[in-house]
Amino acid sequence: MKQKITILGSTGSIGVSTLDVIARHGDHYDIVALTAHTRVNELALQCIRYQPQFAVVGTEQAAQALRSRLAAHDLKTIVLAGEKALCEVVGVCDVVMAAIVGAAGLAPTLAAARAGKKVLLANKEALVMSGQLFMDAVIENGATLLPIDSEHNAIFQCLPRGFNRQAQQHGIARILLTASGGPFLNREMGTLQDVTPEQAIAHPNWVMGKKISIDSATMMNKGLEVIEAHWLFGTHVDQIEVVIHPQSVIHSMVSYIDGSILAQMGNPDMRIPIAYGLAYPQRIDSGVHQLDLTKIAQLDFRKPDLTRFPCLAVAYDALRAGDTAPTVMNAANEVAVQAFLDRKIGFLMIPDVISRVMDTVPNRPVSDLDGIMEQDALAREAAQRFIESR
Ligand code: NAD
Ligand code: MG
Repeated sequence: MKQKITILGSTGSIGVSTLDVIARHGDHYDIVALTAHTRVNELALQCIRYQPQFAVVGTEQAAQALRSRLAAHDLKTIVLAGEKALCEVVGVCDVVMAAIVGAAGLAPTLAAARAGKKVLLANKEALVMSGQLFMDAVIENGATLLPIDSEHNAIFQCLPRGFNRQAQQHGIARILLTASGGPFLNREMGTLQDVTPEQAIAHPNWVMGKKISIDSATMMNKGLEVIEAHWLFGTHVDQIEVVIHPQSVIHSMVSYIDGSILAQMGNPDMRIPIAYGLAYPQRIDSGVHQLDLTKIAQLDFRKPDLTRFPCLAVAYDALRAGDTAPTVMNAANEVAVQAFLDRKIGFLMIPDVISRVMDTVPNRPVSDLDGIMEQDALAREAAQRFIESR
């Protein structure tokens, strides 16, 4: 029987890679819903090709535009708009690819977990924001959570089958999260204040959406991934270590108490973790070429420099602080990254805005989605205030 799939964020980098893998295995997967925020044109082309039952866009106006595009092709796709619709279309499938960027993905991804679906998690911000609440929803509703972020997918592949988030019980000493270091790993520190959004987006090894590309340049992406690893694998913050590995060939490692280190390797192409998540526990062709180790020739490793990458230190602090500190950090980062992309602030202001917001918004325990969204909103307001009052 075909697996029914909803792709949240189908027009993004992960969404398009997911469709590429699925197109190679049309007999096994049936796309029931595709969603996009504003890119009606791209979504229309995807609907024409994959003929989903549902398509969701951000606004009613975008929905009208999409409906008229699809009517011209005699398509029966039902077009809906808004967050409520996103939360509904995760209920009509077996598998949800959560590939919306940022906090906007939390409600539908959480809805997928609550509906007990197989959730392929690319949207790391959703887990960072909601940590315990999200993991409880997964466990209480029997959902299957498979990490798509390449590092976490690599770790998942290096963990023993039946791993139950009890690191000690399985002899796990540390998780080694690899990081490329992004485009500014070796750039003269004194020139970082002048970098442009275009320079920051130009990642040496991966082609990705804008937001995660900037996060990679500041290394907040790795910070978010440290928090993501904590929740996914139940590892203590002190057991999660970041290792700079500029070639991006080892996607992460698990070190065991006997001295063994297991690594997962491959070309840097998100279709590998996506194919793994789709077919798990089987393996399918992802369309990615085999890695030629003799061409890579050399693998380098070094410790991250926290003076160069203060966002990484901020993320460790947020994880240690617990409660909604990661929620606030994530929201402040989203606002700061957008302001940098809009050329309202310089590159070095990003960590500054985040730290100031974290000092301003009081940390507090919350146990529901509304509480998380309140903290998210407070952090966004504070970040906007700092940016405007500069
Ligand atoms: P992207 O910007 O290319 O795509 C984002 C998708 O989300 C688009 O389909 C867009 O329409 C949708 N979207 C944006 N804002 C929305 C909103 N307010 N409401 C509803 N939908 C909205 O991003 P991406 O690079 O594909 O990343 C998606 C997620 O996957 C991010 O959380 C990112 O951190 C994670 N991720 C990406 C990669 C990668 O290689 N691109 C790797 C690991 C993890
Ligand atoms: Mg990653």
